[in-house]
Amino acid sequence: MTEAKSLLRCLPKVDELLQQDEITQLLEMIGRERLVDIIRETINDLRSNILLKEMVVESDTSEERIIETIKEKVKKTNEIQIRKVINGSGVVLHTNLGRAPLGSYAQEIIQEVSEGYSNLEIDLDTGKRGSRYQHIKDLILTLTGAEDAIVVNNNAGAVLLALSAVAKGKEVIISRGELVEIGGSFRVPEVMEQSGAKLVEVGATNKSYLKDYQNAITENTAALLKVHRSNFKLVGFTHETTSEDLVALANQKQIPVMNDLGSGLLIDLQKYGYPYEPTVKDVVNSGCDIITFSGDKLLGGTQAGIIVGKKHWIKIIESHPLTRALRVDKLTLSALEATLKQYIKPEKAIQQIPVLKMMIATEEDMLKKAEEFIRQLPESIDRLKASIKRTTSQVGGGSYPGHEMNSYAVVFEGSQDDIVSLERFLRTGTPSVIGRLSEGVYLLDVRTIIEKEMIIISERLQDWVKRSEKR
Ligand SMILES: *Cc1c(COP(=O)(O)O)cnc(C)c1O
Repeated sequence: MTEAKSLLRCLPKVDELLQQDEITQLLEMIGRERLVDIIRETINDLRSNILLKEMVVESDTSEERIIETIKEKVKKTNEIQIRKVINGSGVVLHTNLGRAPLGSYAQEIIQEVSEGYSNLEIDLDTGKRGSRYQHIKDLILTLTGAEDAIVVNNNAGAVLLALSAVAKGKEVIISRGELVEIGGSFRVPEVMEQSGAKLVEVGATNKSYLKDYQNAITENTAALLKVHRSNFKLVGFTHETTSEDLVALANQKQIPVMNDLGSGLLIDLQKYGYPYEPTVKDVVNSGCDIITFSGDKLLGGTQAGIIVGKKHWIKIIESHPLTRALRVDKLTLSALEATLKQYIKPEKAIQQIPVLKMMIATEEDMLKKAEEFIRQLPESIDRLKASIKRTTSQVGGGSYPGHEMNSYAVVFEGSQDDIVSLERFLRTGTPSVIGRLSEGVYLLDVRTIIEKEMIIISERLQDWVKRSEKR
C-alpha cells in the first residue's frame, strides 16, 4: 500500500500540466475545456489503476509518459472516426464494412451536388416548388417497368412505411417460411408490429400453398405479403406460392400483394454463372402491387429503400406522414440517380458499378489480379513469404446465400506471432486493411480489393516489416 501511496503522490496536478509548453501547444488543435477534460481523465485513469493495484509501474506515472498519453488522446479526438477500410475479406456486400462501395460517377455527382446548392425541391423549368422524388422517378420506372416509385431512407423503412400506409389496424397474410430475420435487427414480425398491422401466419416453415392464403383471407385482410428469404435457403421438401398465384388471388379479393424483394437486382446474372434470382422487373411483371428493395445491396448504390408499384398504392404511401420522417437527403438521391443512370446500358452497369464488377469477375481475372498484386510487392517484405492461393468469395449482404465464387488470395506466411501482429497492424492502421486469418496464415482475397488499393497495402506491409525489425 505504501507503494501505491507514493505513486499517487507523484501524480501531477491538472494545473501543473497546463503550464507545460507541450500541453499548451495542444490548444492549437483542441478547445481549452476539452483539453482540461482529457488531462483530468488521464490522471483519474492512472489513479484508479494504482488503487486497483493494476500493473502500474513508476515509469507510467512520469510526467513525460503522462504528457505522451494526453497528446495521443488529443490526436485521436481530432481524427475522423469513420474512415476508409480496404476490404480483403472477399465478401462483396460486407454489412460491417458499409455494404456497396460507390462507383466513380456517383462519387463525382455527390461531390458536385454537395459543394453548393442543388435543385432538390425546385422545378427549374417553371421556377416553382418541385418534389425531391421526381428527379429519379422516371429513371426507376424505365428500369423496373413499374407505374410509380418513391425512395426512402432504407429498405427496412420502406417496408415499415408501406405496411403502415396500407395495413395499419388490419391483417397481413404471410407464409411461415418467410418470417425472416435480416442482419440481426430487421425481423419481419417485429416490423409488422411497429407498423400496426396484424400478422397472420399461414402454411408451414417448409411449405405453403395458395389455399393456405385463400383460407386466411377475411374482410379484415389488408394485404398479402411475400418476403424474399435473402440470407437463407429453403431446400428439400418445400413448396412456395409464386407471386403470380398470389396476385391472381389478391385481385379477386381486391387487396394488394406486397413483395419485399430485399436486394434490388436489376440485371439477370445467370449468364455470369449465378443461380436465378428474380429481378425487380420480373416481380413488377408478376403483377405485385407494392415492391420494396434496398439501394445498397445488389443494386450497388447508396443506402436507400426503393418502393415501386401500382400508382394507386404508391400515392397512398407517398402521402403517409412517415414518408417525411424517412425521407432521403440530396446526397443519397444524387448518388442513387448516378448509379441508376448506368443501368440504362447494362453492359456499362456491369463494368462501372463496383458491386457488379466484383461479382462477375472470373476466376482467371482474379488470378491475374493476384499475380499483379504479388508483382507490386517490394523485396523488403520477403520475410512475409507472399504466395497465391485459390479461395472462394461470397456476395454477402443477404444476397445469393450459399453461392461461392472461385477466387484467389494473396497469402502471407510467418511465425504465429508475426501473423497475428500483422493482422492487427493492418486492421488498426490507416487506412485499415481487413483480411482473414486462416490456418495460421493471413489472406487477402483480391476480389474485393480495388486496383489502386494494392499499392497502399504494399506500403502498409512495408511499414509492418520496418516496425517489427525495430523490436
Ligand atoms: C436487406 C433486407 C431488408 C432490410 O433492408 P435495409 O436496406 O438493410 O434496411 C429488408 N428485407 C429484405 C428481404 C432484405 O433482404
